[in-house]
Amino acid sequence: MRKIALHWQILIGMLLGLIFGFVMTNISGGRDFVVNWINPFGTIFVKMLKLIAIPLILASLIKGISDLKDISKFRDIGLRTIAIYVVTTVCAITIGLLLVNVVQPGDGISEETIAKLTDTYAGDTGVQSKIAEAGRQKESGPLQFLVDMVPDNAFNALSNNSLMLQVIFFTILFGIAMLLIGEKNAKPLKDFFDSLNDVVLKMVDLIMLTAPVAVFALLANVVVTSGDPDLLVALLKYSLTVIVGLMLMIVFYLIVVGVYTRKNPFWFLTQISPAQLLAFSTSSSAATLPVTMERVEEHIGVDKEVSSFVLPVGATINMDGTSLYQGVAAVFIAQALAFDLTLADQLTIVLTALLASIGSAAVPGAGMVMLVIVLESIGFPADRLAIGLALIFAVDRPLDMCRTVVNVTGDATVSMIVAKSVGKLGKPHVKDWDEHYQEVK
Ligand code: ASP
Repeated sequence: MRKIALHWQILIGMLLGLIFGFVMTNISGGRDFVVNWINPFGTIFVKMLKLIAIPLILASLIKGISDLKDISKFRDIGLRTIAIYVVTTVCAITIGLLLVNVVQPGDGISEETIAKLTDTYAGDTGVQSKIAEAGRQKESGPLQFLVDMVPDNAFNALSNNSLMLQVIFFTILFGIAMLLIGEKNAKPLKDFFDSLNDVVLKMVDLIMLTAPVAVFALLANVVVTSGDPDLLVALLKYSLTVIVGLMLMIVFYLIVVGVYTRKNPFWFLTQISPAQLLAFSTSSSAATLPVTMERVEEHIGVDKEVSSFVLPVGATINMDGTSLYQGVAAVFIAQALAFDLTLADQLTIVLTALLASIGSAAVPGAGMVMLVIVLESIGFPADRLAIGLALIFAVDRPLDMCRTVVNVTGDATVSMIVAKSVGKLGKPHVKDWDEHYQEVK
């Protein structure tokens, strides 16, 4: 029997989930059925992916560093990665701002729609909790992010998914120390982490076998918990502006891949597509990270020395889709509420959206928390923040799904660029990726 490729299986699962969700929305008791009996399978899948993120980073980064012949190369990889992340994020915000200024989605929105959105969402706990969370994040000083990067307890860092940068810090230090004690002394540890790395990658394959069913559950749940369809239509122009911007970003990546790495962009898309589909279904770059790492290392051929650093750091700090969305959303809210923006304000948005995307957690809805900080930076009145967020809250989840795809694709693209620039872009380990999954089965 001919086997259906994994990305098609996931796509079919997604489509069936969407259809099932729509059907259940229209059946009495259907919503509750999906929330109570279907959604848990999606949640279990997301938990399993998160479960392996830290062991994978640990094993893969230690293996990557201990394979290095020269530590200065690592500094080189680090500097290039950060520089390219900043450049791609600024490109993303610029695309978003150009689009929103040309399309002006906020200008045509009626007073009646604004009133309806405000009534429905301004007091919503979702909106209020984002404003409160932004307040907490803002209280810290300018260098707090550096302080936060350093763990004071390695085991605490390793037991907390939201402390990914601390795990990376500890692992890099550990890997460098392993290099310094010499090959002979480090051999037992190196063998251990090599083997751990293989085991965790195999766990990713095993978990991915359940992906088609899991995405069915996740998407059915998104549909039954989504807001009033009339409000979704009212925000269509805004949503399309964000989506077109995100698509332009994907085109930008494909061009860079084609021109700089000389790989076929469509081949790249096919190889990375399972990670993109999961990013869409889970709205979380952190949950998708194990799959992104597996795809990039095994199927695209980026060396671990590069991918094991670039991807976890990218999942935490590089969010091109999120920053593009923040630019569009901030200007849209200002347009809709007749809050005038000067050129200086728009430049402020570029800077704060860059910092905000670095500060956004790689979990669903995090981009909206940092949007509050972007709005405050342009002098948006604090007492109108809830109204501003209410305007976009109805479509936040679908847009979050789309921007997470861009976040993940951006990380994968940058890992290829960095790998190419240091001569570490090789051949994929898995030639026929379906064969690979067959083998697991
Ligand atoms: N959900 C996004 C991510 O995980 C972050 C956001 O934009 O809300 O990449």
